[in-house]
Amino acid sequence: MYVHQYQKKIKGEIMDKMKVLIADQINEKGIIELEEVADVVVDTDITKEELVNVIKDFVGIIVRSRTKVTREVIEAAPKLKIIARAGVGVDNVDVSAATEKGIMVVNAPESTSITVAEHTMGLILSIARKIAVADKSVKEGKWEKSKFMGIELNGKTLGIIGMGRIGSQVVTRAKSFGMEIIVYDPYITKEAAAELGVTVVDLETVLRNSDIITIHVPLTPETKHLISKDEFEIMKDSAFIVNCARGGIINEKDLYDALESGKIAGAGLDVFEVEPPVDNPLLNLDNVVVTPHIGASTSEAQRDAAIIVAKEVKNVLEGSSPKNVLNMPVIDPKTLQTIKPYFELSEKLGNFLIQVAKGNINEINVTYCGELAELPKKDILTRIILQEILNPILTEPVNLVNAPAVAEKRGLIITESKRKDAKGYNSLIKVEIVSKDSKISVEGIFVKEPKIVMINGYKVDVKPEGTMMIAKYTDLPGTIGAIGTKLGEYNINIATMQVGRKELGGEAVMVLKVDEKVPKDVIDELKKLEHVYDAVAVNL
Ligand code: NAD
Repeated sequence: MYVHQYQKKIKGEIMDKMKVLIADQINEKGIIELEEVADVVVDTDITKEELVNVIKDFVGIIVRSRTKVTREVIEAAPKLKIIARAGVGVDNVDVSAATEKGIMVVNAPESTSITVAEHTMGLILSIARKIAVADKSVKEGKWEKSKFMGIELNGKTLGIIGMGRIGSQVVTRAKSFGMEIIVYDPYITKEAAAELGVTVVDLETVLRNSDIITIHVPLTPETKHLISKDEFEIMKDSAFIVNCARGGIINEKDLYDALESGKIAGAGLDVFEVEPPVDNPLLNLDNVVVTPHIGASTSEAQRDAAIIVAKEVKNVLEGSSPKNVLNMPVIDPKTLQTIKPYFELSEKLGNFLIQVAKGNINEINVTYCGELAELPKKDILTRIILQEILNPILTEPVNLVNAPAVAEKRGLIITESKRKDAKGYNSLIKVEIVSKDSKISVEGIFVKEPKIVMINGYKVDVKPEGTMMIAKYTDLPGTIGAIGTKLGEYNINIATMQVGRKELGGEAVMVLKVDEKVPKDVIDELKKLEHVYDAVAVNL
């Protein structure tokens, strides 16, 4: 271990400053930033054993991906206040152990956005102008000018799937190339889209109309194989697709078939289902440009990550709040005891709603009713609800600390209100999601266990667990039977059934608990039934 040179120069003055350990190579600028307030020790070769031995003296540690901040390290660190990852993923940090110890874990999620957006443009240009294959050909001593006729980006339509941090940066860059931009992102607000001057459309419209499609969504169960055979079928034969997000969002086998058969014209890939790709037939195709997951690899991204986390550590040492905290705040035990029963209910309500919500979410309204309305620290429940709603749709982990900030950054309106009347219960939580064209609400109580008692104003009585199928239908004879029969045809066993209606023969809601997951094609079949106008499967 050595004391960093900058620190050496002024060592006499800073002997009593708090100690921060930099355990992996980070950009010098971050170190300089930190030295204003801390006694910085750099040891980028530190071993696991050494780290466990020395960590007791440090209030902060900065790592990239080499150093593992394990439970053992955390438990040997009584002074540690902050663990900073100079980058995005925190797989090398035991966040739960840190949370238990009240140690903040921070990262630098924005540090790579511009870098990845630029790489995306690089891949787009490379396919459009056949740069990679032309390069290879010239280096082989050929001069095949006519073989490498390209296309201009000017005037072409770029379809962006996922308009978060990176997608938004791609927008500004693509605009400067004179491209028309359409976006598919069911979770962005109208305001956020208007601010970037893009048109938000459905996935099919993006697939049908884009000359180039670029993907910037996280890999989640919802986005796994988001682009497969059916989606390629809809695309223009001249279309290109680019993936700088995560392998697995595009079905590689279907991509290969689409490229081979001429169904689409080209692809640019920085990420693969298996990395590094082994025996991957896509690598044999001339109309595919590939890079080895280097979308985020620039010195500027690394510099920015170092500066961002150094500022975060500085904030914590100076007693102010960091921005990108990934773990939970410490709640005092007394408050925790009164509010804790509602943790699980809030989790279930949020988780339920994000699975049934439709369209671009603009507002999330939470109402606390009855006795609960008077309890302190209810904002923690709102945070849990936000965490459950936002986590499945965002790349960065959303947690109790950062949930409100993430929601605000995405332009969501969050309201929290109190109501005396709890509809005959002691306490009740109502959560409503307002989207562009629809509103959906769910209300729940906690009596020994969480229960959903109202869905969109229809009375139900459901334990929120397992797989549920929710259908909206017109309350006419035969409809319930038809739904049951259809599920039976697919061997889906109904465990319990609840129906809620406001008036005879009017709109009604059915909640079925089923023993197996309900596949999407079964849901589509249910929606085709007479008098059924919506159906959705929810897994809790
Ligand atoms: P982000 O969380 O800021 O944005 C993700 C966006 O996707 C959000 O706007 C969200 O609303 C949207 N989204 C979520 N589910 C969706 C769905 N089913 N359909 C359409 N839109 C959906 O994330 P980011 O920082 O912009 O990162 C985007 C992707 O880039 C991630 O997969 C990330 O892992 C990847 N990434 C790759 C590299 C690389 O080296 N190639 C580097 C950094 C990030």
